[in-house]
Amino acid sequence: MADSLHIDPRPRVELRGISKHFGEGETRVNALADIDLTVRAGEMIGLRGPSGSGKSTLLNVVGCVSEPSAGWMRLDGDVVYDSHWLRHDLRRLRLMKIGFIFQTHNLLPFLNATENIAEAMELAGTPWRQARARADGLLDYLEVGHRRYAYPGEMSGGEAQRVAIARALANGPRIILADEPTAPLDSVRAHVVMDLLARIAKDHEAAVLVVTHDESIFQRFDRLISLRDGRLVATEEIKRPGNVSAQAALPTL
Ligand code: ADP
Ligand code: MG
Repeated sequence: MADSLHIDPRPRVELRGISKHFGEGETRVNALADIDLTVRAGEMIGLRGPSGSGKSTLLNVVGCVSEPSAGWMRLDGDVVYDSHWLRHDLRRLRLMKIGFIFQTHNLLPFLNATENIAEAMELAGTPWRQARARADGLLDYLEVGHRRYAYPGEMSGGEAQRVAIARALANGPRIILADEPTAPLDSVRAHVVMDLLARIAKDHEAAVLVVTHDESIFQRFDRLISLRDGRLVATEEIKRPGNVSAQAALPTL
């Protein structure tokens, strides 16, 4: 586990010249244009921008769901795309290195909390008994251990979201991607989710990228990145004690 003075300085996400277009000719849309971005272990990045500015497309490219049209990307040291169109095993990368958190929880209704998480581990090759034990540990970590036998239909919204976050952590991902995770929540619950994500970033030395419109949580990030028409137009370092982005710039002792 990392404390704030011993953050692993290695980049988790490196993007260079990433572009992505949809369609051709008259209907061509440049969803991402020449994005350079590095995100380090333990760092929490907020992605903001008007609707259609490319936020979800960027998350999908980093999440190995959508292939870029050009550019170079490395995740946790592994080259995913390079100029020679090398393509890593994307399914395996998605499963092992990336945790997705959606606005709605995406849990399977016919599996209980433990089974929903264990299933993600079984897909990655973990034996079921071991997966269940680890799933219960993650539910305890997210303070919903007492709901391990509950089915999604029996959970409150907050409980389902914690179980979904536990599921995103199932295979020990290095990168956590969340598309407007606080959108359906009131301000108190939005801050609880941000507390959880901050704790995960530090404890798991993960890079956390969060798409958000919610101004009330902007100050909770280490860096706030603005997209417009597919371009990265501004980066704001959030100044506060324990800011990981600022520490990453310091020389290692
Ligand atoms: P945001 O998440 O910031 O609202 P998106 O990344 O969803 O923006 O979209 C960026 C642009 O790419 C928009 O113009 C959108 O219409 C277009 N786009 C996104 N996905 C597709 C797709 N699958 N096919 C065609 N156009 C798309
Ligand atoms: Mg979007």
